[in-house]
Amino acid sequence: MRLGECAEALELTMSFMGMKSTIHPVVLWEGREGVTLIDAGFPGQLPVIESGLTALGLKLMDVRRIFLTHQDLDHIGSAEALQAATGAEVSAHAADKPYIEGEKRLVKMDPGRWEDRLKAMPEKLRHQARLMMSSPPTVKVKRVLHGGELLPFHGGIDVIATPGHTPGHVCYFVKSQGLLVAGDALRVEKGELAGPSLNATSDMPAAIASLKNLLACPITAVLCYHGGYFDRDPVARIRELADPTVPRGSK
Ligand SMILES: [Zn+2]
Repeated sequence: MRLGECAEALELTMSFMGMKSTIHPVVLWEGREGVTLIDAGFPGQLPVIESGLTALGLKLMDVRRIFLTHQDLDHIGSAEALQAATGAEVSAHAADKPYIEGEKRLVKMDPGRWEDRLKAMPEKLRHQARLMMSSPPTVKVKRVLHGGELLPFHGGIDVIATPGHTPGHVCYFVKSQGLLVAGDALRVEKGELAGPSLNATSDMPAAIASLKNLLACPITAVLCYHGGYFDRDPVARIRELADPTVPRGSK
């Protein structure tokens, strides 16, 4: 999915732990500083990420940096494999770093949270899922973010702290494109921009409060990891979603 000049969202669909989902890592390659990847897919997705890059006329070895929006498995899954293959520098927020590096258990990998789903899985899948939960992927975070940085790549990328979905969730605003890479702070559902998923968000009041942090940016389009692209007056919609008195959907 083309986002702008030298900016593309990959669309990767796979079944993971019994659930089919489509995710959208972002590839940026404007300028001479090589390729930036925002979020790194599920575990095992290095080959499909490489195919996505090849389709854009890029090479895996062109990837110089990986910006993670947060610690969830579907975002960090192939970061270590990518890092090992390319030597890319990995960036993430300080509050999610100990989870991403394996020092703490990923906040959503609490086995209690998964018990019902695990029970419903076929035996082989359940075994794989337990294995994944006991030793989830990790990667070393080289550049530690705090929010408020201006990263000097592709015409400048603002880091916006948006805690709530996880403690260290960040969004990235690509200035030259007016593009907000929202991670899981926002979703697109049935063509409409929606707030973070109730089921998957650790601290919903914090996640809603964080949306205000986005309003300072002149956003013309939003790319959500789940749901994809939205460009119909996104700032007005984010302002609505940031209002804590608005009722939330059930997902
Ligand atoms: Zn996600």
